[in-house]
Amino acid sequence: MIYLDNASTTKVYDEVIQLTGELWRKEYFNPSATYKPSFGVRSAIADARRTLADFLCAQENEIYFTSCATESNNWALKTGCKNKNGNIVVSAGEHASVYESAMFLRNKGQEVRFAKLLKNGMVDKDDLLSKVDDNTTLVSVLHVSNETGVINDIADICRRVKQIKSRIIFHSDGVQAFLKTNTDVKAMGVDLYSVSGHKFHAMKGVGMIYINKSTHLYPLIHGGGQESGLRSGTENVAGIVGMAKAAEIYKSQYDKNKIDDNYDFLTKQLLSNKDCLIIGSDTDNTKLICAFSALGCKAEILQSMLAERGVIVGRGSACSSHHSGNRVLGEMQLDKKIIAGTLRISLLPTTTRDEIATACQNITECINLLRGNNIG
Ligand code: PLP
Repeated sequence: MIYLDNASTTKVYDEVIQLTGELWRKEYFNPSATYKPSFGVRSAIADARRTLADFLCAQENEIYFTSCATESNNWALKTGCKNKNGNIVVSAGEHASVYESAMFLRNKGQEVRFAKLLKNGMVDKDDLLSKVDDNTTLVSVLHVSNETGVINDIADICRRVKQIKSRIIFHSDGVQAFLKTNTDVKAMGVDLYSVSGHKFHAMKGVGMIYINKSTHLYPLIHGGGQESGLRSGTENVAGIVGMAKAAEIYKSQYDKNKIDDNYDFLTKQLLSNKDCLIIGSDTDNTKLICAFSALGCKAEILQSMLAERGVIVGRGSACSSHHSGNRVLGEMQLDKKIIAGTLRISLLPTTTRDEIATACQNITECINLLRGNNIG
């Protein structure tokens, strides 16, 4: 099988499975317990926190573990908007976990302003800034789009938002950015930053959020007071330790030149098909996500045909692919025909050129079959 849906989820590294298996078997003690065997478990969590904080250029007491980025994003929005009479500004390109949290707040009476997207998928900075005012309490802008791989210039947007009002809480969803582009939270100036483990070969069910030490969030989950009293619930020890290990391995495999070469090769192959186009390639992009449209083809049919041949590609966010249409591509004002034919290919630093070539060969054959032009 050639698996090219890595923005949806990734295979857990063998090293992570081995390491965490040992933890489940031997270090099963509750990290909050006061007897000696649990000390090792606590220190394993502390080590993981330090490692992950380093990747964000944050301090370890600014990292809070969660069950996933959906939780991190819900936490950021639902408790970051302090003033019910104020407004929050959210980009129209957000993942469902931010978008639906914003809609939940709107239904409860909060004023929510959505900032438009440009045709290339980036947030329209001018539109966003025009929506921020003295009553804005929180701004949330996706760092890298899960639909297109397009990178928003968070440092610039955050700086300009804070020029309008310095006390605004700035949140960015960094799920598709972490380890894939520069995520120095101090340089970007963000207050909150969400990350998910299963996008870089850690296990599902573990995530984290950076909370700048001078930013105050209320707990979303109350209980025994874990995570400095802000996120209760017995820690997912294996998930947390495995996430730190996975981040180290992913980073060691990341080779920008190879990723750029693979992306260029992929897009050239795709564009060699008649009436195919790439979405979001004409701007800053991680080059690990490639959204392409085969005009005249239905994406869901093309996706199933490819899966039959052992080539797995995505069709936008797996969390929302059961909804009709694609909200984010619609916000980019793309033609309905383009949206109908759009698939998402997402690569790894370790994806080989052979895998890409075989996938593209199959894509071409399937497109030709669909267009009634069997090349035999
Ligand atoms: N944000 C983005 C940009 C994503 O791509 C995803 C997952 O696809 C999420 C948030 C949700 O992450 P999780 O699966 O950890 O809840």
